[in-house]
Amino acid sequence: MRDQDDGSKIMKAVLIGDGAVGKTSIRRNYLGEDFIEGHLATIGVDLATKRVLFDQDIVKFIIWDLAGQPTFEKVRGHYYSGCNGILLVYSVIDRESFDNASKWLVEAFKNMGPLPPTVIIGNKIDLRTSLDKKKFVTPEEGQAFCDYFIKKLDVPAIFRETSAKTGANIQDTFHELLRMMNEAQQDKEPDIYMG
Ligand code: GDP
Repeated sequence: MRDQDDGSKIMKAVLIGDGAVGKTSIRRNYLGEDFIEGHLATIGVDLATKRVLFDQDIVKFIIWDLAGQPTFEKVRGHYYSGCNGILLVYSVIDRESFDNASKWLVEAFKNMGPLPPTVIIGNKIDLRTSLDKKKFVTPEEGQAFCDYFIKKLDVPAIFRETSAKTGANIQDTFHELLRMMNEAQQDKEPDIYMG
């Protein structure tokens, strides 16, 4: 899809995952905004846009931040539509958020059908003091979940670990997602603006 004003490519991604795993902080870090200590629950839906130069093309990248609380399930349903990418976030220090990750994919699937390129993100690695499997979610567990999901749903997905506090891997993660989204879009429709 293209922006009607300037013809730039539009790509839309959604951030999903339990409340307080760091979705808003990840988005803020990517956009170069300050990290905020203390939790302010995202109310309903939040949206940010960033123009990025990608593959010699200006891309209008729209990132939806959906409230993690179950009560917002109905609101969230609308925002999955037309989405080209998913960022599924859990916290490596909150095992419940990892256990819930598959539920989020099921919700996305219910709303979208076959899923677009997806990044599975284990966030808050700055707070993981050891790789104690009982206490914290390890990179191996995250990767195994991602591998399982790729096989089961046949979706282009990658796994990354991040810290929205230190900024570790945030830019790279978004760049990789954009790359996958771009590839998927090129496969799907011929670019009518070329030639
Ligand atoms: P959301 O509900 O998923 O959007 O989560 P928020 O972005 O609001 O973050 C919830 C809380 O976790 C806030 O207090 C953030 O400051 C904190 N937080 C988010 N990401 C990180 C991180 O990578 N490291 C640390 N130490 N805290 C984080």
